[in-house]
Amino acid sequence: MPDLRFCPCCGADQLIRQVPPGDTHIRLTCSACGHIQYQNPKIIAGCIIEQDGKYLLCQRANPPRPGTWTLPAGFMENGETTEQAALRETWEESGVRGEILSPYSIFSVPRISEVYIIFRAQALEITGEYGEETLDCRFFAPEDIPWEQIYYPAIRQILERYIEECRSGSYGLYMGNDDTGRVHFIR
Ligand code: ZN
Repeated sequence: MPDLRFCPCCGADQLIRQVPPGDTHIRLTCSACGHIQYQNPKIIAGCIIEQDGKYLLCQRANPPRPGTWTLPAGFMENGETTEQAALRETWEESGVRGEILSPYSIFSVPRISEVYIIFRAQALEITGEYGEETLDCRFFAPEDIPWEQIYYPAIRQILERYIEECRSGSYGLYMGNDDTGRVHFIR
């Protein structure tokens, strides 16, 4: 995110980068009013939903990488819980009303300051009506999943592992990161 030019608090153009007293990080600070512009990672919440051996995927309409397939997921809004955000995004992007079963995967992408929280969920209602962020939305059997067109490598890894676990009926809980260009999962 590019730095601000004007203070969002007082409007002065006296923003400087410095470590505020008692802080440990460089922050954009207003030398006119003392406002500190904190920038913290964004949280993306989403769901992995299986029904009758098929897995819910949405085809992205928007950049980055429009046309690729991904799990329904999106940025949390203020005032939401992560579970509410995951279910809302699933509803908006797939028209599927769901229910959370358990957390499944947490992974960090420090390069772009994002954290993904993916839940296991089950479908309660499938309306087939979804928002403009989605080109197409389907439940795929594993052999029909467009593996080469999955949005992001970590999404593919989560999906592959989930399918494996669905077959065995026993689910792990995973965390990982993308700071090495690869997402590692720890059982
Ligand atoms: Zn200010």
